[in-house]
Amino acid sequence: MVRREFLIASLLQNRPAPAVAGSTLVHEHVIVDFAGVASTAKYDRAEVFRIARPKLEELKPLGCVRMLECTPNGLGRDARLLKMLEDATGIELWTNTGIYGAAKRAGVPDYARTETARELAKRWAAEWKNGVDGVKPRFIKTGVNGFPLEELDRKLVEAAALTSLETGLTIASHTNGGGPAAEAQLEILASLKCPASKFVWVHAQSEKDHGYHERAARAGAWVEFDGISEKSAGWHRDCVLYMKDKGLLGRTLVSQDAGWYHVGEPGGGSYRGYTYLYTTFLPLLPPETWKTLLVDNPRRAFGG
Ligand SMILES: [Zn+2]
Repeated sequence: MVRREFLIASLLQNRPAPAVAGSTLVHEHVIVDFAGVASTAKYDRAEVFRIARPKLEELKPLGCVRMLECTPNGLGRDARLLKMLEDATGIELWTNTGIYGAAKRAGVPDYARTETARELAKRWAAEWKNGVDGVKPRFIKTGVNGFPLEELDRKLVEAAALTSLETGLTIASHTNGGGPAAEAQLEILASLKCPASKFVWVHAQSEKDHGYHERAARAGAWVEFDGISEKSAGWHRDCVLYMKDKGLLGRTLVSQDAGWYHVGEPGGGSYRGYTYLYTTFLPLLPPETWKTLLVDNPRRAFGG
């Protein structure tokens, strides 16, 4: 199956890549520091700028006008760097507020363990109000470590829901633990009367049972299939076509989760570019889905 897709893809590669005018990439990265909040690692912002800029420039002929940079606070979120790159390239780069509980809690500061959900939400709403280094965060990024949710996971999701109610921002939640973890988070939102439409199930591609994708979308949530690459294109295509067949393309998001400058590696390590989705993945899908996936859905999910 996958092999056949690649054959098709490689044939299509000789055609010009489809440009999708006004498109948004909803989940990519410019920089990540996996050592997290405990890290004293320093990086040279000018070096990251120099390496990231051409990768962003490659997107312009493909019609991309905006990228949601999903690196959480404490793991390399750098609003100043994003602003520099936005000014230089003309591609909007959105940053986020929130705290991310996945990645073995590397992005969780000590105060998040002792404060209540309400206190955390207050911090995030303040960032939305006052900006992160002068830049307004445009979405909430959180993450849970697995299923069943631990107390800290539940608190972070509650805080995200409270922040969403206060600010109107949408929550993108990196979900380890597949469909059951996504459903547990949607229950938390429901208990706080935060609409499911404010929730993006990040990494839904890790759940192999499409029934979960369908139920989450029917409940009103966004189902985001991330990490599209040469290795995974066949599965990602199956996921999107499943949603389309069920009439749920309007609840579906796709991303590469690509990039990025790896803090702590010489020269930032290997930086995966952002064009594969346009050049190779979209041609595997019916053209009438392209605008829905890359223009309409990102705007409906996150605003702007
Ligand atoms: Zn990511």
